[in-house]
Amino acid sequence: MRKKAIKIPNASIKRLPMYYEYAKELKENGTKFISSSGLSDALKIDSAIIRKDFSYFQIKGSKGNGYNVSRLIRLLGKLLAEDKETKAALIGVGHLGTAFLKYSLLKRNSPKIEMAFDVDPKKVGKEIDGVPVYHINEINDRLKPDVTVAILTVPVAAAQLISDRMIDLGVKGILNFTTARLSVPDQIKLHQIDLAAELQTLIYFINNLPM
Ligand code: ATP
Repeated sequence: MRKKAIKIPNASIKRLPMYYEYAKELKENGTKFISSSGLSDALKIDSAIIRKDFSYFQIKGSKGNGYNVSRLIRLLGKLLAEDKETKAALIGVGHLGTAFLKYSLLKRNSPKIEMAFDVDPKKVGKEIDGVPVYHINEINDRLKPDVTVAILTVPVAAAQLISDRMIDLGVKGILNFTTARLSVPDQIKLHQIDLAAELQTLIYFINNLPM
């Protein structure tokens, strides 16, 4: 009888980059093994959650030593497709979009932003940290077929139209930094990042800290 596939919780998947970055930091500091309680202290996550997360991905440690750091990096890197180059396009080279193109962590990690699009003639034709900015009207000709991720940093009013267009052109995932509630087909992965809402909820938590 075939085993039923286990549904991995989104929260577990979202913690993978944090584990990965920390494992790389450990390696840089010469640490060879780390226990789940060591990870727990550093990352402020319950060690049972860490063990559960790792079990979803069949990441095993040894009883005495814990997790081998190099192996951890290899396995997590594979899960995060760091061994393949995932290509992204950024649409909207305003303040946030420009910051993204200059963000050094994104230069090291996958996905790599290959190209950017905008409507503003002052921005089109420029290169920002090596990334060319094209006019959005050229997107059909310029967007490479291997670009699978779109990062939306356009004004909210333009977001749905751009999203539809990117999906038509074969993009599989959208990272939406606008506050638009995008509607996308089921097979498309949509991640919404609302920086203002994050700040607002942080403020709520600060104001409602237990006395
Ligand atoms: P700036 O003041 O430089 O325009 P901003 O971040 O304040 O930056 P926004 O109004 O949020 O500006 O727009 C973000 C970027 O999206 C701008 O560079 C703008 O030219 C671009 N943009 C607006 N509409 C579109 C569109 N339909 N397609 C692509 N880019 C667009």
